[in-house]
Amino acid sequence: MSNRDIYVTQPYLPPFEEFTPYLRKIWDNKILTNGGPFHQQLELELCKYLGVKHISLFTNGTIALVTALQALRVTGEVITTPYSFVATAHSLLWNGIKPVFVDIDPMTLNLDPSRIEAAITPHTTAIMPVHCYGHPCDVDAIQKIADNYNLKIIYDAAHAFGVRCHCGSVLNHGDLSVLSFHATKVFNTFEGGAIICSDEKTKTRIDQLKNFGHVGEVTVVAPGINGKMSEFNAALGLLQLKYVDQAISCRKAIDSTYRERLQNVKGIHCLKSAGEEIANYSYFPILVQSSYPLSRDELYQRLKDSGIHPRRYFYPLISEFPMYRGLPSAFKTNLPVATASAQQVLCLPIYPDLDLAIVDEIASFIDAQWM
Ligand SMILES: *Cc1c(COP(=O)(O)O)cnc(C)c1O
Repeated sequence: MSNRDIYVTQPYLPPFEEFTPYLRKIWDNKILTNGGPFHQQLELELCKYLGVKHISLFTNGTIALVTALQALRVTGEVITTPYSFVATAHSLLWNGIKPVFVDIDPMTLNLDPSRIEAAITPHTTAIMPVHCYGHPCDVDAIQKIADNYNLKIIYDAAHAFGVRCHCGSVLNHGDLSVLSFHATKVFNTFEGGAIICSDEKTKTRIDQLKNFGHVGEVTVVAPGINGKMSEFNAALGLLQLKYVDQAISCRKAIDSTYRERLQNVKGIHCLKSAGEEIANYSYFPILVQSSYPLSRDELYQRLKDSGIHPRRYFYPLISEFPMYRGLPSAFKTNLPVATASAQQVLCLPIYPDLDLAIVDEIASFIDAQWM
């Protein structure tokens, strides 16, 4: 196939020369962190771009998840999905909270709202769903359950930068939404993250918690953490933001090419897209079904042998890792859809600089396994 290795993602970087004026400014004013000018500017520009009221920037998405739970004083048990990156559930353990895994919807691979109620106990205080691959959760159904049982909702929106739903930004749903700006995500600041909230008071509390719980010079109100984003990362974000629409439209073209080329390949199911204009095309997941001539792992290996490196996101399930597998909710019998999906899924390469000719070759290779 292609003469170089193709990975599932490659970080998107704007032209190098355009970053030097930002560096110059940091060197000139010597403000490196603690809510400096670039940090303030990035918060403003992200609110505008995303269509959200308040945002607090973080050093990474995981610390933002940990802080989001602390900000809402979540305790006891939290209902979440096993089909995600392990940081989702780890953020619960870091707060001494017991994760309760609930199975996913086979169409979207998001938390299945119809299974949430059965998992609620007197200890349940919140729900932590994930907009998996940037596909919006059934936010209305989840909100209804939360309202009925007086539960908080914190969305792990690490995949959902710029994703919209029927009523604007998907990030405006629930009590809080958490973003990741890790190098592999649609919008990156090398490392970074954020919490979205809808009121000033909550934003103030989050900002205190990410700065050790400090309020002013001599008062500490909570055992907060150091979650502050530096000026360097904020500057990267400002530059990156200028190119993010362009980056998403490149992703969209790749998504369309895969869909067109794979639609008639028997045994390969492309997950339904979130829909035109609202998706961010952050991942391209396929399910390798039993009617395909190879198993998922055989296809994975053959692709790797030819220099294509897809990823089995999300396999294994979070609930299969040693620190979770003893929980009653982690049993496979409780999670049949997640268990089956984790066995079938393969995320194909998708990133702005990926040549459409290579996308075409990858699709042809998958089709050719039928010969
Ligand atoms: C990337 C990711 C995170 C963690 O974000 P970091 O910024 O890498 O800490 C959390 N949840 C999900 C679903 C992710 O994909």
